[in-house]
Amino acid sequence: MSSLPFIDLGKQYELLKSQIDQAVIEAVSSVKYINGPQVSQLEEQLAEYVGARYCVACANGTDALTLPLLAWDIGPGDAVFCPTFTFIATAEVVALRGATPIFVDIDPVTYNIDPLDLEEKIVAVNNLGQLKAKAIIPVDLFGLPYDYEKVAALADRYGLYILEDAAQGFGGVYGGKKAGSLGLAGATSFFPAKPLGCYGDGGAVFTDDSSLAEALRSIRGHGAGEDKYQHVRLGMNSRLDTIQAAILLVKLRAFPQELDLRQIVAERYEKDLVGFIPYAPVVPGGRLSSWAQYTVKVPKELRAAVIDSMKEAGIPTMIYYPGCLHLQKAFAKYGGKAGDLVKAEEISAQVLSLPMHPYLTEDNQKKVTQALIEALEKAAASAG
Ligand SMILES: *Cc1c(COP(=O)(O)O)cnc(C)c1O
Repeated sequence: MSSLPFIDLGKQYELLKSQIDQAVIEAVSSVKYINGPQVSQLEEQLAEYVGARYCVACANGTDALTLPLLAWDIGPGDAVFCPTFTFIATAEVVALRGATPIFVDIDPVTYNIDPLDLEEKIVAVNNLGQLKAKAIIPVDLFGLPYDYEKVAALADRYGLYILEDAAQGFGGVYGGKKAGSLGLAGATSFFPAKPLGCYGDGGAVFTDDSSLAEALRSIRGHGAGEDKYQHVRLGMNSRLDTIQAAILLVKLRAFPQELDLRQIVAERYEKDLVGFIPYAPVVPGGRLSSWAQYTVKVPKELRAAVIDSMKEAGIPTMIYYPGCLHLQKAFAKYGGKAGDLVKAEEISAQVLSLPMHPYLTEDNQKKVTQALIEALEKAAASAG
């Protein structure tokens, strides 16, 4: 049996083909492959969409997280707080700067950084006095904006920067503010599978702070000053290609409608799974998820069997994320061990992400929910 796609980028291309093909041909024939006018046009439109004063496009979402850390001169001796249940890039950028990532547990309902544990961790770092608490990187996990009000209050109280990891959150809303604008800086990714994706790698940083925006632009281009070959600081090479910007300009026009379609798909999942899956995702009042992923929880002892029978039925699933960051070998030197962050550890053993994209038809979605319900019943029966 042929399998349904987990994310259907082919369908999206089919719908936008004439506009995207034209935009790519224009970019190619303009010969302005780097810094073509499409890049600054995109930056303006992204800033307007997100409701931030400035947008600095860059090469990928990981660089979008790195650029503000460089601008804030975060390095050895500094502590940066991030959730343990996220993609590795969130904490990798911190460790690569030589700073120390302090892993924080998650709220068991939203899966985002837990403000209570966050405050405990901040206080512990301050009391120990070995590291200087500098920044928080909350993540809009699976598209749901983090608990901005509570985390911003802690950032204020303890004098910390907020760098929002909105790689999955683009399009999400918290209290009328869009994801990407929920911090002193917000980083997003245009990796193809993200809510707004390009046809390769891309990313952007948002901020309202003009001097930060200026520093980000400089760092993106090898620390350039007023003149391209005058270098006022050390930077990196992190440009967004003209071709990717041209593609994103087309996709950004289609994005609001795609976001609406994602809401419809999420509502259908919720309706069809109620009663079978007590653990459908929860969107707290005042927030809108961009539904980068639709992630349910299944009993951990049944998960492997559920995945197998869904696969047999032609339904792909993914586990985001099978391990917490504090337990990854890459971060072993920070001394994390099993049992340190129990809520995240429990949840990572139960999560299962289902196919989610704007073009999932009602018929195909029925196949997904049917397969999930049957797989759960079968797994439960054979587990006795
Ligand atoms: C995808 C992702 C990133 C990194 O983005 P890239 O463009 O792949 O570098 C960072 N954080 C989170 C939460 C992500 O999902």
